[in-house]
Amino acid sequence: MQNELLTALGQSLVSGSLTDEALLARTSEHPLVQILPDANVVKVGGQSFIDRGRSAVFPLIDEISANLGRHKMIIGTGAGTRARHAYSVGIDLGMPTGVLSVLGTFVSMQNARMLHYLLAKHGIPFIEPVQFPQLPLYLAERGAAIFFGMPPYTFWQKNPAIGRIPPHRTDTGCFLISEVFGTRSMIYVKDEDGLYTADPKKDRHAKFIPRISVSELKAMDLDDVVVERAVLDIMPNAENRRSIQIINGLVPGNLTRALEGEPVGTIITAD
Ligand code: ADP
Ligand code: MG
Repeated sequence: MQNELLTALGQSLVSGSLTDEALLARTSEHPLVQILPDANVVKVGGQSFIDRGRSAVFPLIDEISANLGRHKMIIGTGAGTRARHAYSVGIDLGMPTGVLSVLGTFVSMQNARMLHYLLAKHGIPFIEPVQFPQLPLYLAERGAAIFFGMPPYTFWQKNPAIGRIPPHRTDTGCFLISEVFGTRSMIYVKDEDGLYTADPKKDRHAKFIPRISVSELKAMDLDDVVVERAVLDIMPNAENRRSIQIINGLVPGNLTRALEGEPVGTIITAD
């Protein structure tokens, strides 16, 4: 390639070292394209939500249906209790993290399939990672699509610092979709009003936190949090997705309010 056809950065990238930090810093000088700026990623919890069955899921399906045509939704699913059971059997049988990740992927796919069939009459497709190129068409035509929340790393899932459970699960997979497509929002639908100072199921004195930054949250060093810790680790380096919202989907109207941009639930910001 003739060097005069390349930008200054292009010349440095072609001939320089990709471990040179000064060169790497220059690669973020251009603003990012927001690929799907009108879409919202909505993650429906596995253990916290779908596992509760129809009493939780049917009203949410009605609320999602009512928002079709008003808000574009990329709906991701959690895995939940069945994945935890699969992990326990896998661990008992000596399976490595990458194989446990495969197991979790299939459980989150089961949940995506079920939500998909509940929304099928509205023409909402279930998509696998290879079908993401069609996502813009589905959003334009039908206003929503459903995917499984697990990032499709499978065997390539990295080991956690402690133990063997895949550290990047469905909260993380949904976050990364929101980041890469530059969506309007990342909404986690769970069964608590948001983040508290402790798990409200175990500590009735836990205090609700309406808004907090990742660094403030890390400084609090809470025993347990409402989203995967990997999301909090990824957020500081996120370019598009600088905040997440956690809402109680058991309360009718909360999803609609979040889609309207209201600060319902907890908002965690990257800065
Ligand atoms: P999902 O179903 O999306 O995978 P999880 O069940 O993994 O969600 O996480 C949500 C749960 O986290 C809540 O149901 C809540 O009981 C628990 N939790 C733990 N720590 C906290 C906290 N500090 N604040 C709020 N909820 C918490
Ligand atoms: Mg979870």
